[in-house]
Amino acid sequence: MSAAVFLDRDGVMLYDLGYLARLEDLHWYSCAIEAVRLLNRAGFLVFVLTNQGGIGLGLYSEGFVRATHDAMAKRLEAGGAHVDGWFFCPHHPRATIDDLRITCECRKPEPGMVRAAQSTHAIDLTRSFVVGDKASDMGLAERVGARGVLVRTGQGEPELARAGGTIRPAWIAPDLAAATSWMIAADRDGRRRDEAGSDRPRRDHER
Ligand SMILES: [Zn+2]
Repeated sequence: MSAAVFLDRDGVMLYDLGYLARLEDLHWYSCAIEAVRLLNRAGFLVFVLTNQGGIGLGLYSEGFVRATHDAMAKRLEAGGAHVDGWFFCPHHPRATIDDLRITCECRKPEPGMVRAAQSTHAIDLTRSFVVGDKASDMGLAERVGARGVLVRTGQGEPELARAGGTIRPAWIAPDLAAATSWMIAADRDGRRRDEAGSDRPRRDHER
C-alpha cells in the first residue's frame, strides 16, 4: 500500500481568483510543479480533489474542468511531474442545474473523491495527507483518517481567522512547497519509527 497526498486545486496549486472559468485565468503558484515532482519522487501517490460547484451553478461546464486538468497535466509533465488521478465534484447545494442540486457524497468534506481514488489504488490512509486551504479539506482529512495540512495561500489565511479554533490541521504551512517538505520528512520519520518499533532482528546494511 502506498501513502497518498490529496491536493486541493484552487488556492493550493493555482491562484484562487474566484471561480476559474477561462483557461487564460489559470495561474500556477511558482512552487507547485516542483512540489508535485518531489512528492512523486518520494513515492507518494498524488491526487487532485477539487470541489467545482461552479458547474452546478452554471458558471462553466464539466468539459471545461476536464480541459483545465488536461492543460495542468501537460504542464506538470513538462516539469517532470505527474498526478495519479484527477477528481472533481460538480454538485452544489444551491446549484441552478437541477440534477446537480443534491446532497452528494463527493463534495468535500464528504469522502467520495478519496473513495474513488481508493477504488483504483491501494492507499494507506494513515500515512496519507490532505493539503488544502479550507476547513472542508481538514474535515475530509479527519473523516478518512489522514493528516490535514492547511496552507496559508488562497483562502487559508482568512479561513484560519474564521475557523481557526475549530479545525485541527496536523500542520499549518506557508505554501505548498513548505507543506511538501514537511510531509516528506514526516513520512520518513514515521517509517523510521515503525522500523525501530518492530522487534524482529535487523540486518545491518548501513555500513
Ligand atoms: Zn458531489
